[in-house]
Amino acid sequence: MSNIKFACPCGSVTAVSKADPVLMAYCHCDSCSRNYCSYIAPIGLWKVTDVEITGELETKTLTSGPNATLRKSCPKCHSRFTTDPGGKGHIAVLYPVLSEDMGKSWFKPAMHIYCQDAEGRNLRPSTIKDGLPKFYDLPPALGGTGKLLEENHPTL
Ligand SMILES: [Zn+2]
Ligand SMILES: [Zn+2]
Repeated sequence: MSNIKFACPCGSVTAVSKADPVLMAYCHCDSCSRNYCSYIAPIGLWKVTDVEITGELETKTLTSGPNATLRKSCPKCHSRFTTDPGGKGHIAVLYPVLSEDMGKSWFKPAMHIYCQDAEGRNLRPSTIKDGLPKFYDLPPALGGTGKLLEENHPTL
């Protein structure tokens, strides 16, 4: 899935993917939720070297310490454009909603992550009936516990 084109709403910042994403997922963590103003954040993770970003970005550090998350926005329209989780400069998160077709043709999430942050909310990940694995934090391959939440659909 190369050549996916992204742009911020005002068009000052653009990006093109040069390879497949490492991961596509729905993130339920508090940080993404606050930044999206939404309980669910669809995200794509790419190796930083597989994404070409054009335009100027302003960086905000949202958590402190050695694993600071850097969220980068367009300085003109102030939309979130990309995130560097852990602040290590290896991974670029891009948001499917900012791609040309808003992810309709290419966004195929494989899992839900950081579900433990969200279980007390009104929209609980365990009630989402999509058959995708719902990790408490992250799968082991990404440094998480691998603990899974069971789907639990309310009967209406
Ligand atoms: Zn912009
Ligand atoms: Zn998140």
